[in-house]
Amino acid sequence: MSAGWTPIADEAERAARVLHPDRHGMPRPAARRVMGVANQKGGVGKTTSTVNLAAGLALHGIRVLVIDLDPQGNASTALGVEHRTGTPSVYEVMLGEIPLEEAVAVSTASPNLLCLPATIDLAGAEIELVSMVARESRLAQALNDETLSRLDVDYVLIDCPPSLGLLTVNALVAASEVLIPIQCEYYALEGLGQLLSNIDLVRSHLNTSLHVSTILLTMYDGRTKLADQVTSEVRQHFGPTALRTVIPRSVKVSEAPGYSQTVLAYDPGSRGAMSYIDAAREIAEHGASGAYRPDGH
Ligand code: ADP
Ligand code: MG
Repeated sequence: MSAGWTPIADEAERAARVLHPDRHGMPRPAARRVMGVANQKGGVGKTTSTVNLAAGLALHGIRVLVIDLDPQGNASTALGVEHRTGTPSVYEVMLGEIPLEEAVAVSTASPNLLCLPATIDLAGAEIELVSMVARESRLAQALNDETLSRLDVDYVLIDCPPSLGLLTVNALVAASEVLIPIQCEYYALEGLGQLLSNIDLVRSHLNTSLHVSTILLTMYDGRTKLADQVTSEVRQHFGPTALRTVIPRSVKVSEAPGYSQTVLAYDPGSRGAMSYIDAAREIAEHGASGAYRPDGH
């Protein structure tokens, strides 16, 4: 660090890295990756991580489809995609009423970023699906290889609702990887056992390729001892599955969705934006090496 280097220069440098990503490209995956972003706890950063990781990848030339699987529709909002009642959405797609392509919209964040929005209608799906044929694999059917190839996407990120109900099960059947965001807070690990055993159940009965490939620590507050305790506990338990990059707690990250933006667009020089880019790069690098597949193929 040279003399005269200021926090503002630091921020400008970070903004330049976000706004001019070409110098720091990200590899495309060896094969398309479908990742469910899941944790039955609410407020741990599932939606925030889904949209900002997706934007980080898309800004580096990788094509990403975000599936908003939460009736709240927060991922759709953050990606600048319409999700009023009546908008063609994931709900009609899962019911088999319309093909995926009919409901997919391009995000205002990037032409490489597509989003299948959720409307409030999805709130009823959890119950309506119960009596349907192949109720656990409705989403998997919609996300078939042929359709995804036509959309030419490298990544599909599925933003799960805060429950372990049928919607999340659909995500776990459609995905081959699970990304679990963990908030650096009290009780961070509470409920994780239940999530992991549900993942095991889905793997043994419905989707043998499913595995936890990525853990992302979110809302890290360096001023607290607790954040470090949670971080080291998670690293001890999950080893390299936990990304090296940790997402800091940052007001900018929480403000961005209020402007229908990702933090990368809202404040490209912020630490939040930078850390999501770094996390996206780690994910992309795992994907390129194939290291994320435990069986090695
Ligand atoms: P989930 O989808 O798991 O329910 P969200 O992504 O919606 O969680 O995040 C919950 C709340 O925390 C939201 O208000 C969001 O803006 C805020 N938030 C998420 N990540 C951060 C962060 N790194 N710094 C500050 N606030 C955050
Ligand atoms: Mg959410």
